[in-house]
Amino acid sequence: MLSILLVLIGGPGGPGGPGGPDSTYWQQRVAYEITASLDEPSGVLTGRVRIRYVNQSPDTLRDFYVHQYLNAFRPGSRWAAVDSAEGRVRFQRMQDPDYAFERITAASVMGVAAKPDYPYAPDSTIAHWRLPRPLAPGDSLVAELDWQARPSTLPRRQGRQGRRFDFAQWYPKVVVYDKYGWQDHPLYPAGEFYGEFASYDVTLDLAADQVIGATGVPVEGDPGWERASAQSGSRIDYQRDYYRPSGRQAVRPSCTAGAGRKCVTFFADSVHHFAFSLNPDYRYEQGRYKDVVVRVLYQPGDSATWGKGVAVQRTEVALAWLDALFGKFAWPQITNLHRIEGGGTEFPMVIMDGSASLGLIVHELGHNYTMGILANNEWREGWIDEGFTSFQTDWFFEANGNPPGYPGVEEDILFWDLDRWSEPVSLISDRYRDFNTYNTMIYSKGQLFLEQLRYVVGDDVMHQILRTYYARWRLKHVDETAFREVAEEVSNMDLQWLFAQWLHGTPLIDYRLQKVERNRLADGRWQTAVTIDRLGDGFMPIEIGDKDSIYTRASGQPERERVEFVTTQKPGRLVLDPRIRAHDWNALNNHEPRGGFFGFWHKSRSKTVTRFDNPTRNESRRDGLASGLLPLAWFNDYGGVTLALRGRSNYLNRFNKGLTLLSYAAGPDPTGGPGPDSKYRIGVYARYGNPSSKPLPRTETSVAGWWVEGRSGIALTADRSLNEHLGGTADRHAGMNAIWMAVGDLGYVDRDLWDNAGSVEVEPWASVVKRSGPRTWRGRFGLRAGLVYRNPGAGIQSNNRYDVELFARPTGEVSVRLPFIWKTTFGARLFAGGYIAQNAPPLQRRVMVAGADPYETFTNPLLRSEGALFVRPDFHYHAPGDANLRGFRPDLGGRWAVALNMEGTKSVYRRRTGFLRDVALEAFADAGVVDSLALPSAPGGKSYTTLYDGGLGIITRHRINDLAWTMRFEMPLVVNRWDYAADVASPATDGRLHFRWQVSLEPSF
Ligand SMILES: [Zn+2]
Repeated sequence: MLSILLVLIGGPGGPGGPGGPDSTYWQQRVAYEITASLDEPSGVLTGRVRIRYVNQSPDTLRDFYVHQYLNAFRPGSRWAAVDSAEGRVRFQRMQDPDYAFERITAASVMGVAAKPDYPYAPDSTIAHWRLPRPLAPGDSLVAELDWQARPSTLPRRQGRQGRRFDFAQWYPKVVVYDKYGWQDHPLYPAGEFYGEFASYDVTLDLAADQVIGATGVPVEGDPGWERASAQSGSRIDYQRDYYRPSGRQAVRPSCTAGAGRKCVTFFADSVHHFAFSLNPDYRYEQGRYKDVVVRVLYQPGDSATWGKGVAVQRTEVALAWLDALFGKFAWPQITNLHRIEGGGTEFPMVIMDGSASLGLIVHELGHNYTMGILANNEWREGWIDEGFTSFQTDWFFEANGNPPGYPGVEEDILFWDLDRWSEPVSLISDRYRDFNTYNTMIYSKGQLFLEQLRYVVGDDVMHQILRTYYARWRLKHVDETAFREVAEEVSNMDLQWLFAQWLHGTPLIDYRLQKVERNRLADGRWQTAVTIDRLGDGFMPIEIGDKDSIYTRASGQPERERVEFVTTQKPGRLVLDPRIRAHDWNALNNHEPRGGFFGFWHKSRSKTVTRFDNPTRNESRRDGLASGLLPLAWFNDYGGVTLALRGRSNYLNRFNKGLTLLSYAAGPDPTGGPGPDSKYRIGVYARYGNPSSKPLPRTETSVAGWWVEGRSGIALTADRSLNEHLGGTADRHAGMNAIWMAVGDLGYVDRDLWDNAGSVEVEPWASVVKRSGPRTWRGRFGLRAGLVYRNPGAGIQSNNRYDVELFARPTGEVSVRLPFIWKTTFGARLFAGGYIAQNAPPLQRRVMVAGADPYETFTNPLLRSEGALFVRPDFHYHAPGDANLRGFRPDLGGRWAVALNMEGTKSVYRRRTGFLRDVALEAFADAGVVDSLALPSAPGGKSYTTLYDGGLGIITRHRINDLAWTMRFEMPLVVNRWDYAADVASPATDGRLHFRWQVSLEPSF
């Protein structure tokens, strides 16, 4: 008897009510009675609401708050301020009548007329009243408000477009009062909603031809479905009596429709929001899953994608899945409608979708469970709705025979974790670094956390957890504790550690398989002991298996753990985390130690998969090293035909990046002379980057060494990203390069480009690339400093008595590309560089006039040595760099140069797929002033020389798989010092104006 009384008084979730999650849980009770009329031409809805509020909390309330979230979508809001700070333009500069608003025009609270104040002004998404008298526990108040509301023309989870209206957050909505107090929270781009469960009695005065999709059921009036029905002859189930048996139906305020108008009344109970959409062109289709009516409203052009039962059937499939996963749906109907905006947003009983894709429907309908029925505070714990529904959506596809989504999500989050971009999943949404981080943590890492819980407890227990959580908490406010307590109770496990690590920290997980001991027992079975080391600061239970079976699980908690198991068959090579379910970032130490080819001195704990290398693909693996071998051949005058084998390897396309080239110069061109000494026939170039033993966030490092084509050297590079946001508009880097390069066999080198000299140098540098819309700015500054030395012997060119001297070589460049008239793109680059030392630079360290310096082209065997394929006398190749006066000979260089390169391009062909992606016509001009050491001044005797060139060209962009490149075919028609042009046949017949050509495989800048 007592319990029946409590149900009648308290309704669902009343204090101590049966089925209540615990004796201390409570939630407030709210009833809205709304009448509103929409004026379509102005987009303004004028309404009156009577809010009855029952204080079921143990606290005496002295304040009252409502959300006016439409006021976020206008200038001056906190939303607009965050958009400005993060470089998005949406509402901050919007003019009347485009922006949204919500204005309270008259208000009385507890019978006392009072205007609200706005504690977050100039933001007006939270309105507040001081109550005229305190509201004691169990007491109720009535607030009566008149207001006007208008959605924005730029849609964002609401909007209007012509006669189409998506109304959400359109009425003064009571702010939740929960165990943490009033949850008065302005609306920001990151984070969604939180509402009190309430009954809604909503009467709308609308144009007579409007078709409505809304939360609740139409208890009176015509929602327009009959006229809009695309299923001729089928009966429309309005469910007008759904709420009548329970006696919940409220007395409706009267509405008298004018000419061409109609009144429609909807009623909904136990929902925390009321949303509706209008469109006179909607088509209506209906379906059913068990006793839940499925309504679909779509656009006339959607017949193929939404119509003919497609969207209805997908919504039914989603309902069936969710019913099986959680339990029975809580409400009479679900309306799936095509909204103005793309993407999708969920409301109780209504999902507003931009398409009818199955994934979107399962996601948004899933929110009717995780958000709608299991109602969380979305701006405080966004993962409880977004992570959950991402998780169940992937599980839906997996359960229907699709490949699991887990590997993609896991690898994506791994990079966020390794680069230390991740922030705790439990962070309050507007405190994330930026919207991108919020989004990734709430959706993907939240999903990954639930996948980890599923891994820890197993699929069956996970199902039981979800059903128990739903049964206990439906139509209540949930949080992490509510979910964790259910998960712990059902699984009978302490899961604090899992929730703590995955939701409140960003640890890295890594285990090493230290050793394996195998013993044959007397009964013929095998006893195996595995010792594992925990290297990361996070921990997870870790599976141990071989390629066929999983034998046991280590707890993963001690620093060193020994696990034993017995099997009938002898296990194969053992591996930790064979299914890659524990988010162990480093799989290279997960295998049973084994000697491969080099086993006598190195025990490998990794798996390596070697393939014939497809040079157009960047192959990588999650579970080990991907390695590729490729035979290559090239040619130069001195070494002749050179055969090479190239090996590449990497882990995750990020770590242990190896590149090795072994080459053998088979012999010189018969006309080219005697050829290299045997010790210079063999070439070795090796580079290794980003060792997994020392993972550095946001940093690339490499070390390289070579003995190839008469030169030897060492290079070290480090490149650190200075970005404060991932995916921001500016990409800033700083780094350090160090190089030692020495010439050993002069026979290989072009003596116009190389002296018999070497250098040791370091270069600190900084760069930035800034993109704003179609504009791209780039800048790079570097200061090389070191010493040059000249080898003793015939090659000596030093004009003082020192063979070694210090030098500095600063270079800087800035460039921009931006849209110009007639759909062309204009690009300009300014370069300045100098070589500072007492003596003239050795040829290879000059500041070059036409393009890249010999060190920069060194790694390319087609450019490296005299007579190589791209530098043959009759072939004109342009390698961009330095002053980049592209019409000139590539061997010109001096102590300094200042240059301006300009380019105008017009794209004449563009495709998103295929080999040829873009063809553009080009006009270019380069001008510069260079040191007269590079080429003599005209007239002579000056310390500088003025140069210019100009011409026309064609630029094409290509792509095969992961390999993309640009090709340039250019005709430098004008070259002011034509006897120094790149393509000069005979100075006697050439001239300033002449037909010349050159090609390149890179953009000019
Ligand atoms: Zn969502």
